[in-house]
Amino acid sequence: MSEKKLSPASLAAQAMGFVDPTTRAVVPPVHRASTYLRDEDNAYRSGHIYARADNPTFRHAEATLAALEGGAAAMIFSSGMSAATACFLALRPGNHVVAPQVMYWSLRNWLQGFATDWGLKVEFVDGADTAAFAAAIRPGTTKLVWVETPANPLWTVTDIAAVAEATHRAGARLAVDSTVATPVLTRPLSLGADIVMHSATKYLNGHSDLIGGALVTAREDEGWAKLRSVRAQLGTVPGPDDAWLLQRGMRTLFPRVAWASRSAQALAERFAAHRSIAEVLYPGLPGFAGHTTAARQMQGGFGGMLSVRVRGGERAAIATAAAVQLWKRATSLGGVESLIEHRASVEGAGSPCPTDLLRLSVGVEDANDLFDDLDQALRRAHNA
Ligand SMILES: *Cc1c(COP(=O)(O)O)cnc(C)c1O
Repeated sequence: MSEKKLSPASLAAQAMGFVDPTTRAVVPPVHRASTYLRDEDNAYRSGHIYARADNPTFRHAEATLAALEGGAAAMIFSSGMSAATACFLALRPGNHVVAPQVMYWSLRNWLQGFATDWGLKVEFVDGADTAAFAAAIRPGTTKLVWVETPANPLWTVTDIAAVAEATHRAGARLAVDSTVATPVLTRPLSLGADIVMHSATKYLNGHSDLIGGALVTAREDEGWAKLRSVRAQLGTVPGPDDAWLLQRGMRTLFPRVAWASRSAQALAERFAAHRSIAEVLYPGLPGFAGHTTAARQMQGGFGGMLSVRVRGGERAAIATAAAVQLWKRATSLGGVESLIEHRASVEGAGSPCPTDLLRLSVGVEDANDLFDDLDQALRRAHNA
């Protein structure tokens, strides 16, 4: 190979060009060992001691993800939630954090419950409003600003570069939940974020067959060392088989995300003109509130996630979700199979999600088949 720097798509496809040095296998092995031999002189030169802290199979997925995000290092976790909560557990009681009002509901619940009980001062602001972030960030007291963009389930877009600037002016750190954008469409570290978080359960793995999470850091600093110790102490590591499946899933990340984004854009445009749909929420639509910011910070598409608001309200929305045949009526997102969900039913009381909203995760099926199936479901729901 020449010295030419390979593009992230090529690195992902070949899992960093792995070839096993002893067998010449082009696919990495799964390292299942929980413990590693000490050297004769009492050292641990392999860098491996015990698998609650680290594992060579994790390192493969981590090196790939760090390259895709343009980060200094990455860590994979047992879930997206364990990756996200590690960022807050690395702080101290009394610290102030700022997060968006509309965000992944389970993390919002955790921030309002566990994190608040534990002593964090959590302040929620409008994720689309950079000035609201700037006003909420308190120099010296605010330690972490959390952003999710596009944010579940309304796909609110946050201007990462502008919020990064306000965050750093106050001496705080910015973490971005980039699960929906993926490193294919947005690289938050290049826009000034300090940490990128992913639910690897979603697009990174892409096949709805594991639960995992990840953090990527801009720098291997003291904050990153603290995060490493949180993971090692809590033991929120994936199993080696899941870590292996994740690196396998990431090999097809670029074509999966490109395909899903193309289909989601086409579906958003067609459903925006559908008589049974009141509104389509999708960052790729020029009329969408966050479109201009999204167009600036997302490259190559606007992602595979959109929501539709169904005419006829909650009853019609639930009836539509019940009448699909090709779409799968299930929670989660980012898999090769398309999913549809009445989101308010999942989020429960206190959710900012409208009751007429259906969340769509577009997979890699044929976009015309997806349109036709949802179209027939809308017709059945409205004729019922
Ligand atoms: C799913 C999800 C999470 C949580 O990840 P798990 O892997 O389910 O723990 C966090 N953020 C976003 C945006 C998600 O979609």
